[in-house]
Amino acid sequence: MGTRGREIIGMDVEQLITLLNQAYASEWLAYYQYWLGAKLIKGPMKDAVAAELNLHATEELNHAVLVANRIIQLGGTPVLTPEGWGAVSPCAYDAPADPYVAVLLDQNIAGEQCAITTYKGLMDATKDKDMVTYNMALTILEQEVEHEEDLQSLQEDLELMAQRVQ
Ligand code: FE
Ligand code: FE
Ligand code: MG
Repeated sequence: MGTRGREIIGMDVEQLITLLNQAYASEWLAYYQYWLGAKLIKGPMKDAVAAELNLHATEELNHAVLVANRIIQLGGTPVLTPEGWGAVSPCAYDAPADPYVAVLLDQNIAGEQCAITTYKGLMDATKDKDMVTYNMALTILEQEVEHEEDLQSLQEDLELMAQRVQ
């Protein structure tokens, strides 16, 4: 932990680490939900959707790397166990028990919307107080917004296709 780097933070650092760990836990849940969903997926457009789910899984893992590094930089400890992910995350883990493409899209859209709320909250909490975390949260938020749009446009394609078939 860098001492001067910690001194310039204008908020309670332990509270900040708690917020970061919530985001961190959510990234692992999102990673696994995407990764497993991409393997199980069934239904129309499954290859196109699986490709997007796999890409998003990789991107969620990269978010976990960024957030873990920041937690460690602040002198904190990232959530130590998989059990902790579910306990700490503000976002639900939706198991891909039903592999139908539209169901997986709905579940992952809900996950992205929760992630957007989480990073917006992290930005609100760190604005003018911790520029480094604020900037990291913005970088991740940009990608979560992109993820939501990617999935909603796949959902729209699926609905258009269903209408044409009728
Ligand atoms: Fe993410
Ligand atoms: Fe995402
Ligand atoms: Mg994408």
